Amino acid sequence: MGVGENAETWPWTTDRRVEHPDAQLGFDPAETITARDRVRSGDYPEWLDHVSAAAACTRPIRLSGSIDVKNPDGTLMHTIDTDSMPDGVIYTPCGNRRASVCPSCAEVYRRDTYQIIRAGLKGGRYGLPPLGQHLAVFLTATAPSFGPVHHRVVKTHAADCRSKDRCTCRAQVCRPFGKPCDHGREMRCTSRHTASDPLLGTPLCLDCYDHRHQVVWNLQATELWRRTIQEFDRELERLGKRLGVDLRRRYLKVYEFQARGVIHYHAIIRLDGYHPDCPGAIVPPDRIVTRGMFASVLETAFGKTRYATAGHPANNGHGWEMAWGAQGLDIVHINADGDDANLTKLSGYLAKYVTKSTEATGAIFRRLDDMSIELYAAPDTHTGRLIQACWDLGTADGWHRLRRYAHQYGVGGHITTKSRGFSVTYTYKRWERTIWRRTQGFPHLWDDQQADLVVYRLGYHATGWITTGDALLANSAADAARRRAQAARDYADDQPSALPTAA
Ligand SMILES: [Zn+2]
Ligand SMILES: [Zn+2]
Ligand SMILES: [Zn+2]
Ligand SMILES: [Zn+2]
Repeated sequence: MGVGENAETWPWTTDRRVEHPDAQLGFDPAETITARDRVRSGDYPEWLDHVSAAAACTRPIRLSGSIDVKNPDGTLMHTIDTDSMPDGVIYTPCGNRRASVCPSCAEVYRRDTYQIIRAGLKGGRYGLPPLGQHLAVFLTATAPSFGPVHHRVVKTHAADCRSKDRCTCRAQVCRPFGKPCDHGREMRCTSRHTASDPLLGTPLCLDCYDHRHQVVWNLQATELWRRTIQEFDRELERLGKRLGVDLRRRYLKVYEFQARGVIHYHAIIRLDGYHPDCPGAIVPPDRIVTRGMFASVLETAFGKTRYATAGHPANNGHGWEMAWGAQGLDIVHINADGDDANLTKLSGYLAKYVTKSTEATGAIFRRLDDMSIELYAAPDTHTGRLIQACWDLGTADGWHRLRRYAHQYGVGGHITTKSRGFSVTYTYKRWERTIWRRTQGFPHLWDDQQADLVVYRLGYHATGWITTGDALLANSAADAARRRAQAARDYADDQPSALPTAA
């Protein structure tokens, strides 16, 4: 699969400004010979069928070992050894969420996220009750400023403006005013930046910018979030007491990198009621609670929460302040009942973020070590300074995570987190897919008891396809299968009695 074809099949993976160290170059002519050999070998159809579960994956995991099939009474019926299978292994998808690493697995992760969010807002599936009566918000919480950067502000977008990345609307002048800094650099910029301008997010003066504070903020953002949610719970309890009702919140949050290399959080927060007889049940909040009250509780919690980190020798033993950005929260109310277009759009955005990494900053790095740090910590670039800041601060006791996550400018932890009971889990979605595959599309034939009789004893064998030829064949077959499935869906959509297909 060449880069161009990749981009056409998976449009959300393209990002004009990204240079990825693993970027695939076209195929070596010598490699097509391996593909020909595979096709000519007698077991090609069998092989293709064998790899189908992982066929679209860029770097599948190869597992070897054996599978025990037992009789209903628990005695062994027979054992299948992977040695008897094509290539002597079982292929499973890598499962990476990043589109830059594996477009196919990232797409699966994106769809799961989308379904999980939809289910958490609308309910009525996967055993969740209908959730139309629940208040919910889509919230964006940003980091504070660490110094002036080139930015792009559009006052009003044209009606046909499709998305943030492809916006061609006229932007305002970047920074019309500003005196030169102590380093003698102009602190103003009269450009109207385009959405793809690589200058976006870079500081006007690299020496004035507080890179250290920013990487510390990235590192501790999860802690800031945790404290904020605690504060939010306290505020919610206060509101409940005043109104004489019991309230709970459940949420899903995702982080996204901004161009300046700091993350911000997007969260969908749902307000639930509480039933003392059945504490785990998801019940609607009392109708006395308004959207305005919900929003003001959120604003109070985010505005109030701030703390200082532990001290650091490089900062004269002082800590850094952790707080949310001064421009305040961005809150969009999502009415789960009736405002479907907005809901679809926002769930779509969120689901897309989970397949991204640091693309927005113009670069993706691998985990760094003493060798590669030399290469990436370029002092004349913004990202280089961020990486250097992680490396320098990460030597102190208690700060080692900064080095570990230097390739993500200090950000560690999971891209998505959600509270229990917000929706179904990723594990549930994965299991659903396994059942679908093992029953070949007839999940109602699945028998849990029968499944218990199959015991997998597999271990790691290797990563990736054996040859580029294999990758080419498997990826093309998966792509053809995807097109066939899409054509079937399109055909069904054209039929007057067609049921709406799941997005
Ligand atoms: Zn994969
Ligand atoms: Zn500018
Ligand atoms: Zn626009
Ligand atoms: Zn300066």
